[in-house]
Amino acid sequence: MPETSPANPILHQHYLDLPEAMFAKQQPARSPAAEMLAINDRLLQTMGIDSTWFHSNDGLNMLSGNAGDYPVEPIAMAYSGHQFGHWSGTLGDGRAHMLGQITTPNGRSLDLQLKGSGRTQFSRGGDGRATLGSVIREYLVSEAMAGLGIATTGSIAMFTTGDRVFREQAFPGAVLLRSASSHLRVGSFQYAAANLEQQDVQALADFVIARYFPELTDSPDQYLALISAVTERQASLIAQWMLVGFIHGVMNTDNMSIVGETIDFGPCAFMDEFNPAKVFSSIDHNGRYAWNQQPTIGHWNLARFAETLLPLLHPDPEKAVSLAEERLNSFGSLFQQAFQSGMQRKFGLTRANADFVNHSLTLMSDSSLDFTVFFDQLTQVACGESDSLLLEMFDDLNKVKDWLQQWHALKSVNSVELESMRLANPAVIARNHRVEEAISSALDDHDFAPFQRLCRVLANPYEIDEADRDLQAPPLPEQRVTQTFCGT
Ligand code: AMP
Ligand code: MG
Repeated sequence: MPETSPANPILHQHYLDLPEAMFAKQQPARSPAAEMLAINDRLLQTMGIDSTWFHSNDGLNMLSGNAGDYPVEPIAMAYSGHQFGHWSGTLGDGRAHMLGQITTPNGRSLDLQLKGSGRTQFSRGGDGRATLGSVIREYLVSEAMAGLGIATTGSIAMFTTGDRVFREQAFPGAVLLRSASSHLRVGSFQYAAANLEQQDVQALADFVIARYFPELTDSPDQYLALISAVTERQASLIAQWMLVGFIHGVMNTDNMSIVGETIDFGPCAFMDEFNPAKVFSSIDHNGRYAWNQQPTIGHWNLARFAETLLPLLHPDPEKAVSLAEERLNSFGSLFQQAFQSGMQRKFGLTRANADFVNHSLTLMSDSSLDFTVFFDQLTQVACGESDSLLLEMFDDLNKVKDWLQQWHALKSVNSVELESMRLANPAVIARNHRVEEAISSALDDHDFAPFQRLCRVLANPYEIDEADRDLQAPPLPEQRVTQTFCGT
């Protein structure tokens, strides 16, 4: 009997309901020699989506532009943005194609977007392509985020295109298929406000409220409520990043999601030794997007978002500004609350204690302690293990004696709180040298075993098998990554 092909996933294209200038109908480039490299069965399973189609030839044919027909019309989306604080005018999906939305069995709508899938009308001088290295980095780091329970776009699949992409030198081209609750960004609102009519900005805001924040529909001040809701999500997201030592690296307004998911993984990384001013991106010369600058930048980006809504807030411009500011100003306390309660869990404290946390962070950075190993060791001590390995981490024991005593007095012995401490402190993170190793094995030796191994371990970062202990360790001096891969 001939095998029947698995059915195409049923897709919608709800962005067609947006004002027409917000998108352009565009077909992904054809990649006849495409080869599937990874399909994220784990993620598809958690979404309740059958992975059979993604594994089939039909699946690869459609994703790589060879099938011709799409269930719904693919689009590239328009957006603007401030990049490193400077207005960039129109940006838009210059190398991404939105295939549409799939609905999960529990009713959740998810965008499916190709990244690296060829030129669009927003490509400007770019080639519309992505290098395999950048696709592997985004795949692994978004998997790490998902494993940590932090809101993120998902990596569903990646394939090589068979073409070479030039970034100073030639690299294999690749495409990432990613999911997101939404691909609308702060920059989407900036685009509408800068180029379209007020009624279009309103239509965009109404779309966002109806699709992603339906609980606000009945609010008397819907647009102010939207500013509050986006502010809340970003404050919580940025606190969660910082609690695991994550540095996004390119928090431009075009890379800030309206629904509060981590999106657009460029030169991002998790810190090894704790340094609050740490940056990874080789182009971030002023440390604009350093670990400890992320709340300030998040707040700044949200102000750019609120500005786009001002005419909808109040007919009197001054009154509109003061109403918006009132909502935006909650960012600081929302962030602090999320960060301090996260730190309370990380240190296993019975109650939040900002003074103790600040003192501890200073000690950690003075001794350049590995952020993840420190909290993992502390968790083990809290669970009754000896403190010798923890103390060995510090260069001067005299400095930590009082601190340790203080911690013992403040920490909880309650088993529920200890479990929450364990879950606040991953045993393993996507260390930058391991990500780079997975990339170079793939590029140099066509060996995807390190990539697959990292994916497996990062899916459950709270437990680690003896055989995977090497992935926990900080880099040796010769393993240190001195420059994070920016060849996008
Ligand atoms: P990113 O730095 O990836 O967030 O991208 C910023 C802007 O540059 C977006 O408008 C992208 O679509 C665009 N872009 C980045 N790389 C390329 C490329 N290779 N070809 C075309 N557009 C690109
Ligand atoms: Mg981007």
